[in-house]
Amino acid sequence: MGIATVNPTTLETIQSFPALSNEAIQLKLAQAESAFQSYRRTSFADRSQWLLQAAELLSDPEQSQQYAALMTLEMGKPIQEALGEVKKCAWVCRYYAEQAPLFLASQTIETDAHQSWVCYQPLGIILAVMPWNFPFWQVFRFAAPALMAGNVGVLKHASNVPQCALAIEKILWAAGFPEHVFQTLLISAPQVEGVVRDDRVKAATLTGSEPAGASLAAIAGSQIKKTVLELGGSDPFIVLESADLEASVTMAVKARMLNTGQSCIAAKRFIVVDAIADQFLEKLIAAFQALTLGDPMDTQTDIGPLATTTILEDLEHQVQAAVAQGAQVLTGGQRWPDLPGNFYQPTILSDISKDNPVYSQECFGPVALFFQVADMEAAISLANDSPFGLGASAWTSDPQEQEHLIKHLEAGAVFINGMVKSDPRLPFGGIKRSGYGRELGLQGIHEFVNIKTVWVK
Ligand code: NAP
Repeated sequence: MGIATVNPTTLETIQSFPALSNEAIQLKLAQAESAFQSYRRTSFADRSQWLLQAAELLSDPEQSQQYAALMTLEMGKPIQEALGEVKKCAWVCRYYAEQAPLFLASQTIETDAHQSWVCYQPLGIILAVMPWNFPFWQVFRFAAPALMAGNVGVLKHASNVPQCALAIEKILWAAGFPEHVFQTLLISAPQVEGVVRDDRVKAATLTGSEPAGASLAAIAGSQIKKTVLELGGSDPFIVLESADLEASVTMAVKARMLNTGQSCIAAKRFIVVDAIADQFLEKLIAAFQALTLGDPMDTQTDIGPLATTTILEDLEHQVQAAVAQGAQVLTGGQRWPDLPGNFYQPTILSDISKDNPVYSQECFGPVALFFQVADMEAAISLANDSPFGLGASAWTSDPQEQEHLIKHLEAGAVFINGMVKSDPRLPFGGIKRSGYGRELGLQGIHEFVNIKTVWVK
């Protein structure tokens, strides 16, 4: 499949786009480089004003409805969630418009110099390779800090969301950012290598799968260019005996099913202690069965189609392989035949042994893995027995248990009595095979800057 909008609800191809030629890529990089030479001299006040204007455009009721509908059309996200995503993009723009001048202010440090300090300067063109699952949010959470820092951005978005990619370029341009400060490159994955190798491109960030991240990082490494990688996860959701059972089940459903289960930080492994396992499971099965599948444009829909037919087929094979190795299907376990699109039933698998392939894989769709354990220590061991380390959610009302979980869970984030979520104010990223580096917060804006040391006698 090339670069195209294919409606995952109907499987209809809406519009195809040719990939840029190598000459066209060269032209866009030259324009980006030229834009950088003047953009780097703009003030924080100007950049803030443009970013605030982008937030305004994203907050306009009519416009935001259109952006949300575009996401739902291209990748099948339930429309209510798409609207929430547009709002969150406005939030991250406002956040960095306000905070970046503070985060990037020079810091005086006492040394043997007459004066010494650290200042933060832009690097140049930053390449962002982004996934389709949060087609607006992933891009704005890169663009807002990168542009505030004085960098310019080129975006290689996923091939199934080209119209979202073009819409974002348009928003930033309409907001007042100088021309070519942020450009969408409609290119295929194999064309990324040439962009990374180009001397004008100074660094790259990729959100997506492990193979894509490893490939980009290897090429960037060979060119001594920095990368940030936000990759997959198989986040644990631990429930201990003192947890608020109702609240934990409600959030378990949300944490697994948001975006039809296609989120890196979705809870994917539910680890519950013996004392409450039966009760928790009974409620979880009932809640999964009560979810409404259907047209994602309908505001009553909880679960839409998976974004592409390949994702549906991969998930289907993953579940079949798990079952062949002894996993039990407690609910769901197959496609949903009532609509032609990429629908898969909300599914719970149990009895997953350590040698079952799904034990250490990420399920990118509405499939939950259920594990029952004796106690907190067993829960932590199981949670950490994963190649991934993105986020972890743990439920207990005991402060000592909370402290222990925070200390011993191997993850980029631990959320106690809540689901893992991204927030512009908090750094976001993983450890192990979930990637490295951080987005958002103070740490996110420091990833793509020259942290310059100044010493004056
Ligand atoms: P993917 O195939 O890796 O695609 C992500 C992006 O990388 C797309 O733009 C894709 O372009 C591009 N790409 C693919 N192969 C590439 C290569 N060899 N070199 C350079 N670019 C390449 O990822 P996906 O499977 O669609 O997305 C889901 C994955 O992303 C899951 O594992 C999920 O957990 C992860 N994710 C992580 C985060 C996080 O913040 N940690 C957030 C969201 C998603 P094409 O579309 O043209 O192939």
